[in-house]
Amino acid sequence: MSTGYVFHPIYLKHDTGTHPERSERLTAIMNLLTEKGVLDRLVKVEAKKALIREIEQNHDHAYIEHVQKVCEREGALDLDTPVSKDSFEAALFAAGGLISAVDQIMNGKLRNAFALVRPPGHHAERARGMGFCLFNNVAIAARHLKLVHGIERVLIIDWDVHHGNGTQWSFYEDPSVLYFSTHQYPHYPGTGRIEDGGSGEGEGFTVNVPLPPGVGDKGYLEVMREVLVPIASEFSPEFILISSGSDVHERDPLAGMKVTSGCFGTFTDIARELTSKVAVTLEGGYDLTGLSESVLAIFNSLAGLDLDLGQATYDRKERDVSDVISRVKNFQRSYWGI
Ligand SMILES: [Zn+2]
Repeated sequence: MSTGYVFHPIYLKHDTGTHPERSERLTAIMNLLTEKGVLDRLVKVEAKKALIREIEQNHDHAYIEHVQKVCEREGALDLDTPVSKDSFEAALFAAGGLISAVDQIMNGKLRNAFALVRPPGHHAERARGMGFCLFNNVAIAARHLKLVHGIERVLIIDWDVHHGNGTQWSFYEDPSVLYFSTHQYPHYPGTGRIEDGGSGEGEGFTVNVPLPPGVGDKGYLEVMREVLVPIASEFSPEFILISSGSDVHERDPLAGMKVTSGCFGTFTDIARELTSKVAVTLEGGYDLTGLSESVLAIFNSLAGLDLDLGQATYDRKERDVSDVISRVKNFQRSYWGI
């Protein structure tokens, strides 16, 4: 069984000018994957254009029309989120690209996949675009898994340095989608407290791990092994979606974490041990070297490429996270056996 990748030239036409979330991000990734001979070892997934009714599973119709109009006049959805004429089309293909990847995995044609899409999605709420995001690709894919493929338990792992407010609110009352997020806190967008654990039937199905700046490989792996793995094992996901932000990388200009490129492969190994069906989607990451190297490390894990990319680093001075872990465990103990 093979590993797929999603890429479509329309993703480069979401023109944001000099904004950090720019088309050069995907160009840098594709260049490194080509240079390392990795693309030849993967299966290209044809990205489809998401149908409006698929977007409507997670967004209000009026909001979708609003996005289309703002793109037509080349405006901005908020101060951080400029759009161009082709951005609406690119956003439909971004959501559709991840849906295509999910379909191929569910149909047994692929083992796993990584959707190299933009615009990213995890900040997009039901009726509001923000933080470089138009439509919430990962939330749309989770709804597609439930509605079309009858999946009853989806785990979303969001290791982007920013909290995925849009994804959290999409499933805040839904026990069939467990949302796990590590994020720098306090930081944009300001959400993601430990105590925000879901509500109604979804109580206990949101797991927030807010981290101080300066956390590196050691701290992230401790959080994953001590919080994510026990809760996710108990939840027993049928499918894992990963919101992968390379803005936790030590080189990233927009945040203060210290994760090294090779460690993204270890993150992916941990997810793959929880279930075999895994689809990764690209969120943030604004240093072109850190971004492309970390994507390469994720493919190294997904496809078992055996490239020597270096291991997670344990011997550097980095921020201790044991206090955060014990506070998260104390809160989540009401819901899970940790
Ligand atoms: Zn981010």
